[in-house]
Amino acid sequence: MSTGTINVAVENIFPLIKKFLYSDHEIFLRELVSNATDATLKLKHLTNIGEAKVEYGNPKIEIKIDKEAKTLHIIDQGIGMTLEEVDKYINQIAFSGAEEFIEKYKDTKGEDAGIIGHFGLGFYSAFMVADKVEIITKSFKDEPAAHWSCDGSPNYTLEEASKTERGTEIILHISEDEKDFLEDSKITELLVKYNKFMPIPIKFGTKTETLPKPEDAKEEDPAPTQEVDNIINNPTPAWTKAPTELKDEDYSSFYREMYPMQFEEPLFNIHLNVDYPFNLTGILYFPKMSQDMQIQKDKIQLYQNQVFVTDNVEGIVPEFLQMLRGVIDSPDIPLNVSRSYLQADGAVKKISSYITRKVGDKLKSLFNGNREDFEAKWNDIKIVIEYGMLTEEKFFDKAQDFMLYPTVDGKYYTFAELKEKLATTQTDKDGKLVLLYASNTEDQHSYIQSAKDKGYEVLLLDSPIIAHLMQKMESTNNDVNFARVDGDHIDNLIKKDEEAISKLNDEEKETLKTFLTETIPSDKFTVQLEAMDSSANAFTITEPEFMRRMKEMQQSGGGGMFGLGGMPDM
Ligand code: ADP
Ligand code: MG
Repeated sequence: MSTGTINVAVENIFPLIKKFLYSDHEIFLRELVSNATDATLKLKHLTNIGEAKVEYGNPKIEIKIDKEAKTLHIIDQGIGMTLEEVDKYINQIAFSGAEEFIEKYKDTKGEDAGIIGHFGLGFYSAFMVADKVEIITKSFKDEPAAHWSCDGSPNYTLEEASKTERGTEIILHISEDEKDFLEDSKITELLVKYNKFMPIPIKFGTKTETLPKPEDAKEEDPAPTQEVDNIINNPTPAWTKAPTELKDEDYSSFYREMYPMQFEEPLFNIHLNVDYPFNLTGILYFPKMSQDMQIQKDKIQLYQNQVFVTDNVEGIVPEFLQMLRGVIDSPDIPLNVSRSYLQADGAVKKISSYITRKVGDKLKSLFNGNREDFEAKWNDIKIVIEYGMLTEEKFFDKAQDFMLYPTVDGKYYTFAELKEKLATTQTDKDGKLVLLYASNTEDQHSYIQSAKDKGYEVLLLDSPIIAHLMQKMESTNNDVNFARVDGDHIDNLIKKDEEAISKLNDEEKETLKTFLTETIPSDKFTVQLEAMDSSANAFTITEPEFMRRMKEMQQSGGGGMFGLGGMPDM
């Protein structure tokens, strides 16, 4: 037997990284802006703890295009690197300076600094779009600046440079096939997509801002203008703040910021905020839902430390909640791994059940807090709730408290309320509660009317998935049956007398009693009037059984079971 270390030949690995590291070439900008952000956040942390004795100031990250030189520049005012650090962090592929930093400063809560980097591969994504990459960097330490240059082969040059201001400039010599990345519009698009909520201000060009006119300006004078930095991002998006800091307007303006093309207000939001056993923040919005569950264009977005990762949240957010909008931000989701791994990951499963529970709690508190408002929104949210009840067992249990069953008359009941209300009035001969429902008030109009005339309550259940839910409710509640209002089940219903209410007053009842006793021959019929005084408000006229049979026999021509002669005289 022999043991040894596998040898990695960099010449072979390098082209693989270039080609296959990320399926999407555009990701390089996200990675480089993330590194610039990390460098700035590291400096912030070191100045906070007194290890860097420099002015932190108001650092920003700048992106510049030089069309003539065909270069793209990413410039930061962060921690910078010495020559030795370039050698350590850049020349060693898959050595993460970000991880090293978090580990080194864990005593001063370095893990809370919001550092993004992880695998020590991000920087090399630059070679997906560039023939040559240069780094010019000056550490915050009192040491010479460094200039590193590499043309995509594993050979690099590293020398001293003359840069005097602190920070790093990355220069990408964009390759011919990728020259899209020299277009302003393309870079703007990428910055907005990936960096819109990153924590350090990102400048891309300038814009003209109109100033108020001075007091003494003449009518025809144009308003003065000035050139200001064009800042791409909002460094403190709503989800990074405490819920107590935010008002309703803040939530709706953040919604608008995320979905500029959505003109309808969301129905309500859910602020997620947990730091144990995993870290997760976010805001979910319930939009107005369309009946046909059409696929949404605006989806939940997943962030890691304010960097956009994906809007494919499959496996992280339970399926029924993928109909919502908003953001989820977690440094604990393993982002660069495959989806099948994600689905099996324990942390991800916990996140999914946490989100489900939060949504359930929120719905419950909305229902308890303002039932009227909840009922008004029911039509827009029912699909999500019904779908959740069908697919998530825990949600099914919780939703019993706020799942509503509307009637054709616009009343809303919970299942428990329906059971209580209809327990004695709407049962079949086996004692099962029968919940009559219609799915279309127009088509089933006459059936609904006749059921209502009999005093029954008719539900209006019209979601596309309601049939499955009724089945589930029946299988968990043995004493309940759902029945279509136009089906034959209605004939099996036992109508309880208590339902009928007399329209007569006491005097009229007495008149009726006298009339009945006087006109109905007591030798042929039995009249019972006692019930008229009870709550039942009814009287009965019955024909004795033998009389009825006699009549039948006479009509059928005599004979039969009884000889006529043997019967009492009629
Ligand atoms: P990661 O970010 O996962 O650590 P990268 O490959 O993206 O890995 O970067 C490697 C390392 O290079 C970083 O951890 C950091 O130490 C260093 N680095 C990259 N860009 C910069 C920068 N703009 N300023 C300072 N250091 C940087
Ligand atoms: Mg990185």
